[in-house]
Amino acid sequence: MNVQPVSIVWFRQDLRLADNPALQAAIARGGTIVPVYIASDDEDGEWPAGGAARWWLHESLSSLASSLQDCGSRLIVRTGSALATLRTLCHETGADAVYWNRRYEPAALARDTEVKSSLRSDGILVASYNGSLLIEPWEVATQTGRPFQVFTPFWRRVLADLVPSPLPATPDRLPAPNAWPRSMAVAELALLPQRPWYSTMAETWKPGEAGANRRLERFVDAALDTYAQDRDRPAIAGTSQLSPHLHHGEISPRQIWHRILSVADTRDIDSAQLLNGKYIAELGWREFSYHLLFHFPHTHSAPLREPFAQFPWRDDPSGLRAWQRGRTGVPLVDAGMRELWATGWMHNRVRMIVGSFLVKNLRLHWLEGARWFWDTLVDADLASNSQGWQWVSGCGADSAPYFRVFNPVTQSERFDPQGVYLRRWLPELAKLQDQDIHAPWLASESALTTAGIVLGRHYPRPIVDLKESRDAALEAWRSLKGDAKESQGTQSTATWPFP
Ligand code: FAD
Repeated sequence: MNVQPVSIVWFRQDLRLADNPALQAAIARGGTIVPVYIASDDEDGEWPAGGAARWWLHESLSSLASSLQDCGSRLIVRTGSALATLRTLCHETGADAVYWNRRYEPAALARDTEVKSSLRSDGILVASYNGSLLIEPWEVATQTGRPFQVFTPFWRRVLADLVPSPLPATPDRLPAPNAWPRSMAVAELALLPQRPWYSTMAETWKPGEAGANRRLERFVDAALDTYAQDRDRPAIAGTSQLSPHLHHGEISPRQIWHRILSVADTRDIDSAQLLNGKYIAELGWREFSYHLLFHFPHTHSAPLREPFAQFPWRDDPSGLRAWQRGRTGVPLVDAGMRELWATGWMHNRVRMIVGSFLVKNLRLHWLEGARWFWDTLVDADLASNSQGWQWVSGCGADSAPYFRVFNPVTQSERFDPQGVYLRRWLPELAKLQDQDIHAPWLASESALTTAGIVLGRHYPRPIVDLKESRDAALEAWRSLKGDAKESQGTQSTATWPFP
């Protein structure tokens, strides 16, 4: 009798059927396929998924399970250590091959390395693929063979060599095994909180592959052409909002790349212009973040520039709480933090401003900010979050120098001049005139009275003086040893080494 081979496809942060190299490899092998998701705590290290990401994961797994069902297949859901679970599943199904797409976080990498060698020593065929990056972190290096630490040369090198392969056909049928192994329901993973605080997130997002593709199409139709002008304006939907879909692997950067470049054929735009344009460069920042996390794996919890480990951070639980709750009395900071709390997402420019306020004006450790984002962002991603916070703090690669402190009032006047974004998230300030809404503490008594606002009652007074706190931050920075400051001064040209 001709027995068909059985292959396990282990889904992780690649919750899609399209452009999924691990799934394609199993299809190419022939035989039957057992799609598996394992909820295990052996892959997250110090960073177990936060509340918002768990909500997303619940929805995304449900969506994947339903897509698999449409293909005549199933998602087998298990909990436990990945290695033990995969061994059990190989035994139960007779599978002799396991395929997955790679992850790059240090704990996941260590776990996967162990799983791979243990399964291979059991005689199982194991293969892993790149399903989430345009280029592997180890495939690009400086002329001296070292990792990049400055974005522009990194991205130039990537663009020079990169030719993303064409997308494979998305499967519409998947060969099922003769008997399915037991599976838990996605709901049994208890990813959802008991109190359903996620209702506003559910109104904002449609997790899953179909939702990701709709977001991409909306962006290409309505915002791609104006991305360069609009991407910094938080009041309008000028960016793609694909980050949570990308993080969970509901869409691949390759799919986005091909779709964006396809516009050249229909809109009389030069493909080189699209390639070198701002949008593709943002995908480049994502690649750069993974490049850095892979080569400097400690940077999820320690600064890349070592002297910053000595930075005199403050301890201020009530300041931290005010920041988290959007009650600092600085409107753009509060609007951003409330958008985050309500939707699980925050506009990139506002992320930079709330980050700068936390680490410079409040002088709280960047890890406090990274942890709060980790718990509240639907796109919480160890590579992008760590590098984003280190960028804001001036202690990462190619980052904003510490002495450059965002002024949240001038940023607000510049990027939200009519206060549309501020009024959306701070209804208590809605009646203030445009010229007063960015800094209500500077408004006249009569302007505040007309708008029905008593500072300290309807809206807080600023918890810090922006100028004094800025000066104190610079003073603290000056107290650092010389090498930290020097590395800041050369950050735009130096590639190696820090410190
Ligand atoms: P678009 O402007 O449409 O960009 C397209 C894609 O490019 C994004 O979906 C994202 O995958 C990638 N991208 C864009 N900007 C960046 C960037 N600066 N760094 C890395 N990738 C980028 N992004 C996350 O995905 N997860 C995080 O946890 C995260 N934490 C951040 C923390 C801080 C303090 C800062 C300053 C930035 C952080 N970012 C993070 C990066 C960025 O803010 C978001 O990726 C972006 O706002 C997502 O919105 P979008 O999809 O509309 O972006």
